[in-house]
Amino acid sequence: MTKLIVGFSALFLLVGCGGPSVDRSDSLVVIDAGHGGHDCGALCDSRKEKDLVLQITKKLKREFKSEGYKVYLTRNRDRFLTLGQRTRIADRKDAKVFISIHANAIGDTSRFDEVEGVETYFLQKTRDEKSQRIAARENASVLKGTDKLSQEVIIDSVLNGPKIIQSHKLAIDVQQNIMKHLKSEYDDVKDGGVRPAPFYVLVGASRPSILVEVGYITNSKERKRLFTSDYQEEIAEGIVEGVNRYLDNRKREIGF
Ligand SMILES: [Zn+2]
Repeated sequence: MTKLIVGFSALFLLVGCGGPSVDRSDSLVVIDAGHGGHDCGALCDSRKEKDLVLQITKKLKREFKSEGYKVYLTRNRDRFLTLGQRTRIADRKDAKVFISIHANAIGDTSRFDEVEGVETYFLQKTRDEKSQRIAARENASVLKGTDKLSQEVIIDSVLNGPKIIQSHKLAIDVQQNIMKHLKSEYDDVKDGGVRPAPFYVLVGASRPSILVEVGYITNSKERKRLFTSDYQEEIAEGIVEGVNRYLDNRKREIGF
């Protein structure tokens, strides 16, 4: 009987310790911390976007690894990468998914504390003004020297593929799981939803690719939270759970 109890306890411990239940060792995730180096992203004075997204990216790396994934970061320190460098890494490494991490901002200082929330984007042309505005801000540094026509050609070249559908699905799973995690601790976090936007960092990647705007760095409540380890951890866990879910569904879809 004692043996049986010990056996049960061991089993319980095994199940309860939360180790990876699915073998993820064939799945490589490329995580891209936005901006870096001379490009500080949103807010260049005190709390910088480029530092925040690097902190979250490092937590993400740890979380993905603990689930058994292989992980590659486009940058693991404060340095600038061009658009091409970021997405080429994902292709060269044959990543399953490409995730770019950013923090959002608005220009209108009188509305800083009104606008907040988490948003996940996938690449698509859109007439939605808000998405266009956010994309324009994030695109500014990577597009230097590229004329408008070339930008259109770049986007058109990737718009008609199954990648858009897969990226959309990935975006939904990631957004849902980030919200689930954040809301368990912070019930007033705003769900900004999944949106299409012409982010150039997603253009060159020939695999399911999303861009997560983890929150508004211009909103004082959200900024304070974003720079805490706990909040960053919830975001990272949510993203990893979202990717798990997406890949598990994808496996079922393609039948093995
Ligand atoms: Zn950004």
